[in-house]
Amino acid sequence: MLWLIKRRESALPQLLAALDTVRQNLVECRTCGNVDTTDPCGICADPRRDARALCVVEDVADLWALDRARLFTGRYHVLGGRLSALEGAARRPDDRPPARTGAGRGIDEVVLAMNATLEGQTTAHYIAERLEDLPVRVTQLAHGLPVGGELDYMDEGTLAQALRARRPV
Ligand SMILES: [Zn+2]
Repeated sequence: MLWLIKRRESALPQLLAALDTVRQNLVECRTCGNVDTTDPCGICADPRRDARALCVVEDVADLWALDRARLFTGRYHVLGGRLSALEGAARRPDDRPPARTGAGRGIDEVVLAMNATLEGQTTAHYIAERLEDLPVRVTQLAHGLPVGGELDYMDEGTLAQALRARRPV
């Protein structure tokens, strides 16, 4: 920061222009909700990704945190909203995870990677219920995650462990 302040005349305009370019080029992937420079995003478009596994996360930061841990080889779905335990069913996360796992979509496993918070767990429970009748294995991150823990603040080792030890819902 100090570096920038010292060079505010020369470096700051360039930095702002660069940030603006990034902002203009970012789009939301219409398949998974990730934010990237392309739609579909790099993950959805990557043929090496396992199309049979879908990891559902609360927001984009969680997707990035999990993907940095490099253990999950499938694709993601960003809810972009979670069911608040306090607000009850008034504010529902979107219905796309069940839609994406419908018959003939080729998805075998849905990993619910919600935060270890009351809201996150309520959301996971809600989605698990909606997936009950579909022919998919529903798993959840093991909670070596601290209670109240938000995924994007977790170190990669903890995240990796939670993903490896995921269990059926
Ligand atoms: Zn995507």
